[in-house]
Amino acid sequence: MPATLRAVQADLTTLAVDAIVNAANPTLLGGGGVDGAIHRAAGPQLLDACRPLGGCATGDARLTPGFQQPTRYVIHTVGPVWHGGDRGEAEQLASCYRRSLEIAAAHGLASLAFPAISTGVYGYPKEAAARIAVATVRAQVPAFPLIREVIFCCHTAGDLARYQRQLADS
Ligand code: ADP
Repeated sequence: MPATLRAVQADLTTLAVDAIVNAANPTLLGGGGVDGAIHRAAGPQLLDACRPLGGCATGDARLTPGFQQPTRYVIHTVGPVWHGGDRGEAEQLASCYRRSLEIAAAHGLASLAFPAISTGVYGYPKEAAARIAVATVRAQVPAFPLIREVIFCCHTAGDLARYQRQLADS
């Protein structure tokens, strides 16, 4: 059976999955948007767990526990800041999804949930970002048979419609 890919409209911090993915910044020391929500929901232990990691490069990812959240783990990935599209943003964004799947699989995790990485303050155009998210996960997930479910967690109805279109299209 292939893995299930689906979109939901929800607060990422409420999802009871093996891992939620955080759209972090390179310091991994917390920020606004979904990163702030995750740190608030997890409690201060999350910052204590992130500090010794020493940051993370754009397109790469790191794993911590989920602490006081329903999720078991948080995979912190650093999306690209949108500079117009000619600075490797698409490849870096695809790398966020790829590296998160690799790390989940390496830890034997079966279910994970992604936010729309880079589409908040990092300014990545939402339609292009949703296309990359769905195409990358769809292409990569068969290589990781332990992963059974990938949820695209949408903050808005507009994002949900966008992801549902991408999931139906490809
Ligand atoms: P980035 O810096 O990567 O752009 P942001 O956190 O600013 O990260 O935004 C990434 C996406 O996460 C945006 O689409 C935003 O609407 C969404 N988002 C913000 N808070 C939450 C949340 N609690 N649950 C799910 N998605 C969220």
